Amino acid sequence: MRARILVFWLLFWDFRFSVQTGVGMNFDEQLRHELGQIRSRGLYRELRRLDSPQGTRVAWQGRSLLNFSSNDYLGLANHPAIKAAAIRAVEEFGAGAGASRLISGSLAPHHELEEALAVFKGVESALAFSSGYAAAVGTLTALLQPGDVVILDKLVHACLVDAARLCGARLRVFAHNNMADLEKKLAWAAAQKPAKTDRPLRVLVVVESVYSMDGDWAPLRELVEIKQKHAAWLLVDEAHATGLLGPNRRGLVEELGVSDRVEIQMGTLGKALGAAGGFICGSKALTDLLVNRARSFIFSTAPTPATAAAARAALELVAGPEGAARCRKLMENVRQLKDGLRESGWTPPDDRSPIVPVILKDEQRAVRAAEQLRAAAFYASAIRYPTVARGAARLRLTVSAEHKADEVRALLEALKSIGHQT
Ligand SMILES: *Cc1c(COP(=O)(O)O)cnc(C)c1O
Repeated sequence: MRARILVFWLLFWDFRFSVQTGVGMNFDEQLRHELGQIRSRGLYRELRRLDSPQGTRVAWQGRSLLNFSSNDYLGLANHPAIKAAAIRAVEEFGAGAGASRLISGSLAPHHELEEALAVFKGVESALAFSSGYAAAVGTLTALLQPGDVVILDKLVHACLVDAARLCGARLRVFAHNNMADLEKKLAWAAAQKPAKTDRPLRVLVVVESVYSMDGDWAPLRELVEIKQKHAAWLLVDEAHATGLLGPNRRGLVEELGVSDRVEIQMGTLGKALGAAGGFICGSKALTDLLVNRARSFIFSTAPTPATAAAARAALELVAGPEGAARCRKLMENVRQLKDGLRESGWTPPDDRSPIVPVILKDEQRAVRAAEQLRAAAFYASAIRYPTVARGAARLRLTVSAEHKADEVRALLEALKSIGHQT
């Protein structure tokens, strides 16, 4: 009898074990099991197909939604001058680049883009990548090796986290925008010995300028002082500031007057510039080294001529009077949205940026709020773990230069139904 009970329990435990771990399940069963777990945590994601170009109004399931979720801050993704540049490049250079840059894919539009980027940013040299993600991964793995140190702000973008892991350097994270914590990590780094003796220890601090999910600024003036004091290097990701901040709209680095004190400036061509691709800029030595060592640059087909030409046309537009006018309108819209949120009891960040988070904390609440807004014909994205920390879910509202004042007012009215800060 006792033996039978024992056998029963053994079988039962074995059964429980297999259900929990997916042992004995086939490929699809295992994946469906995992998807079920994602769903049960309120973290399931799915694609929503839009049947229109990017813009302040998008077509979804036969309805027109007022869009407050795009990174096309200046309304350039569907701008006639930029589309025309892309079409011209297709006519002249074809649909695809046909090879990686170092083989035979380095076409005139790529070089013209990089020259224009260097001028726009006021730096010696720029290098275009197929995406910002590829730029991050290629750059960190080219510059750092096991034994070096990389120190990240807690809130940097996933591509920089992945890049930091992939390069194999010793990784430390400092509390968001906390300079005292950064100094502690830098002091620790200074006490490390290089793993190899053929070059000095490299210490790289990695920050964003405008944080992608919070819309706040990094204290770049303090950052350049601190990294200099500790003989570290600094990478600033300007994904959400390029085209938007500074007298020439170069980014926060320009706005805060620290351009010549940042070793590595990074950005994307896919947000305010309305095209696609990423870039790194700084010294000629930096971009030359990346051409030789950045694997995501070397082992990847060059961007299409059309995207390179679109990005270059966008730079020209952003640098000129239309760029200035669009930026002014964008910041007016931002002010209107933030003022309205404050009146309703929310506390949006003070820093000037088109990213306006409405923090709801709970994942399910954020998803429900986005659903409610869609029902009322507004498109805003619910941002959840792992894009932000668990329990820090939010609506990430973004405004565009193309929004009208009454559209922002309508959004504020609709937001009243989701309550206020708790
Ligand atoms: C979007 C983003 C990137 C990635 O750029 P892509 O060109 O979209 O790959 C990098 N860093 C930050 C902060 C971003 O928001």
